[in-house]
Amino acid sequence: MTAFPSAEELHDRAVQALHNCGVDVTPESVFTGTIIPAGSGDPMEARSPIIGEELLIVTTSSPADVDEVVAAATDAWTEWRNTPAPVRGNVVRELGNLLREHKEDLATLVTLEAGKITSEALGEVQEMIDICDFAVGLSRQLYGLTMASERPGHRLMETWHPVGVTAVVTAFNFPVAVWAWNTAVALVCGNTVVWKPSERTPLTGLACDALLARAAADLDVPDAIHRVVLGRCEVAELLVDDDRIALVSATGSVRMGREVGPRVAARFGRSLLELGGNNAAIVAPSADLDLAVRGIVFSAAGTAGQRCTTLRRLIVHESLADDVVDRIVTAYRSLTLGDPESDGVLVGPLINESSYVAMQAALDKARADGGDVLCGGERVFADEAPHAFYVTPAVVRMPAQTSIVCEETFAPILYVMTYADLAEAIALNNAVPQGLASALFTTDLREAETFLSAAGSDCGIANINIGTSGAEIGGAFGGEKQTGGGRESGSDAWKNYMRRATNTINYSRDLPLAQGVRFT
Ligand code: NAD
Repeated sequence: MTAFPSAEELHDRAVQALHNCGVDVTPESVFTGTIIPAGSGDPMEARSPIIGEELLIVTTSSPADVDEVVAAATDAWTEWRNTPAPVRGNVVRELGNLLREHKEDLATLVTLEAGKITSEALGEVQEMIDICDFAVGLSRQLYGLTMASERPGHRLMETWHPVGVTAVVTAFNFPVAVWAWNTAVALVCGNTVVWKPSERTPLTGLACDALLARAAADLDVPDAIHRVVLGRCEVAELLVDDDRIALVSATGSVRMGREVGPRVAARFGRSLLELGGNNAAIVAPSADLDLAVRGIVFSAAGTAGQRCTTLRRLIVHESLADDVVDRIVTAYRSLTLGDPESDGVLVGPLINESSYVAMQAALDKARADGGDVLCGGERVFADEAPHAFYVTPAVVRMPAQTSIVCEETFAPILYVMTYADLAEAIALNNAVPQGLASALFTTDLREAETFLSAAGSDCGIANINIGTSGAEIGGAFGGEKQTGGGRESGSDAWKNYMRRATNTINYSRDLPLAQGVRFT
């Protein structure tokens, strides 16, 4: 029998971690019914997928709470936009310092609420620290261009200004890093932020908010530069429809993006959408197979298949397919499943029962399409943790890229297909509605460059000899097609959080008109 922690133990750990981060809940709170009064709306359970039971209860934000929060963020913005960007960067530096101090507390909450193994939860908090460092540097690098004017005595330049209040809506599977990508950059750009975390991870939301409030207080900055609102999609919808919100940055499913995008566009607001992926890796004949198999297994089975960049489709050269599949199945059989906080466990739970049901439905559909489930798909620990959903990662050999393969099922299913020449493999890679991450394993320079070229992968992320998941913050993150087209995190993604003004300055005594127009 595998041992799982009790609901009481998980509750106490959550309370302690929240308390350490500065959330108003005392470690002495009695076990049942600890309520964190975050808003004046209905109560909502925070559950842990580790055993599928309640951790705590939070109160959600009512429409009146949301209205008040947006008003406060709007007021704070009028001051914040005039604060010099490097001074804004100081708050983000302080946040980064607090994240270093509370790395383990936040990672504990990520594991408790999202079910990530400890190493991945710590990695997610490290990603927050990294983006804070990046944003602090960025606060002195919000560069605009100066262009040559066609008119004598004139100067042409562009200036970047903050857009205003930014709503950040996030998914359960990266409960803290995606918030940090958005918030660290939005704050140095001079925006204020209202965050609606996933309804499945409200506690990490409260902890991050408390840390940022502490950073703001330490530097005597109004804490309304950031506010958290809690609840389900109705709470996010209030932000989506609010004219006071200049930018809605929303991360989640394609279904969510389909609803949010048009609503924000209808009021001519800006949206930044980071939606689902259906990521493929191609294994070419020249690939280093030891390396490829390691990369494939981490990307496909890691995080129990619950990353937007999870590897879901493997496109293997027909000459290697049996060998590669055997190696992957062998590796899968050696993966340890269980309590994500236990040493040696590599695969934790699915977030909830509906994920498990969706996984079973996808496997049934794959079988009906002629797929052969080579391993995985079974529920485990149902006796020890009857309300949790642990499942063995599945490998399915498919005769073709059928309709179920073209869908994102947010669970660990790796569909394997074969190809004869690279053009066919690239066509398969691109023949799905989503366009997030892709990879090619090869040691052939021509193949690698073709995959990265305009005629290659159509995804926002295209990698060589590395899996599809586990991006660094330095690059811009996001994807094409139904993935939404947004870019966040590094490179010049900051431009999404600012508006550009083009300025023409006449320092002459004349008034020449552009294009030689005369008006006298
Ligand atoms: P989800 O779409 O169910 O929810 C995401 C967030 O959107 C939640 O906060 C939810 O309350 C809110 N929401 C849902 N419907 C809404 C609506 N109609 N209007 C406004 N807000 C709404 O997603 P999830 O199950 O939490 O996360 C998994 C999904 O997120 C997967 O599809 C995954 O690929 C995607 N994801 C994408 C990225 C990326 O960067 N591209 C990153 C992480 C997760």
